[in-house]
Amino acid sequence: MKIGIIGLGLIGGSLGLDFKAVGGHTVIGISRRPETCSRAIARGAVDEASTVLNTLTDTDIIFICTPIAQIQPTLDQLAPHLSPQTIVTDVGSVKAPIVDAAESVWPNFVGSHPMAGTTESGIEAAQSHLFRNRPYVITPTSNTLSQSIETLENLVRSLQALPYQCTPADHDRAVAWISHTPVMVSASLIAACTAEPNPAVLELAQKLASSGFRDTSRVGGGNPELGVMMAQYNQAALMRSLIAYRTHLDQIIDLIEHQNWAELNALLTRNQQVRPKYL
Ligand code: NAP
Repeated sequence: MKIGIIGLGLIGGSLGLDFKAVGGHTVIGISRRPETCSRAIARGAVDEASTVLNTLTDTDIIFICTPIAQIQPTLDQLAPHLSPQTIVTDVGSVKAPIVDAAESVWPNFVGSHPMAGTTESGIEAAQSHLFRNRPYVITPTSNTLSQSIETLENLVRSLQALPYQCTPADHDRAVAWISHTPVMVSASLIAACTAEPNPAVLELAQKLASSGFRDTSRVGGGNPELGVMMAQYNQAALMRSLIAYRTHLDQIIDLIEHQNWAELNALLTRNQQVRPKYL
């Protein structure tokens, strides 16, 4: 197949490395900066690369792998260059707003989101087998062509990733729980701790912090742009989860305040039993 990849960073570069390794495809890359295009070619992630979209005219499928805010503007610029049979997909971490807008510009659009990544970004962070054994969510709607879903699923399977299908809205609610809410909960833990009014206690806490704090603060102490992006693009689902979370936190506060150790123990026991289902 002739495959286009726009945005040669961690995800776009990693897709390119794997499609090239699978073989039988021509991979054409597009990125914003010429030096990224040169590095992508040198790393073997693409056969050719440039900064202009018109090289993608006769591609079978195009993966838009830019930052979320650039997905829709990229599709708007891309659409006039394409033939109707070209499938366009994206890899954005939020689906409903992207799919809603993209379908009206390009009817042959299939939203998707590979559940794989690292904390690094850019073409140097691209790696082979990033998607192996990881879920790759495809979010069709009633407008999506079944043949296009099948083509994307077959490509996903060739990366040894695990294709899942769900609606864009269900995807956004699920990632709000397992990705976006943890960032905000972890961020508020760091902020609350840092607001400790006694400077001696704060300093002591910072000296004593170990693996527990490292684990619980990791996602809240990461890239601020990513956190804002999650809140901005998945606002409704994130608010829904955060409000439910606040209710549960209030219940725990209430149990502790009333020294209801039996109920607290029951709650923590249920959590201990259910946690493996997420991991
Ligand atoms: P990234 O490493 O920063 O890569 C994005 C690349 O897009 C940049 O390297 C940049 O390349 C290029 N770019 C930026 N604006 C562009 C434009 N207007 N036209 C063409 N190329 C442009 O980011 P990423 O982590 O791969 O994330 C990309 C997408 O994947 C996002 O939508 C994100 O939601 C999604 N995603 C990320 C992860 C993750 O864990 N990181 C996981 C799943 C999905 P230049 O060097 O040319 O500027």
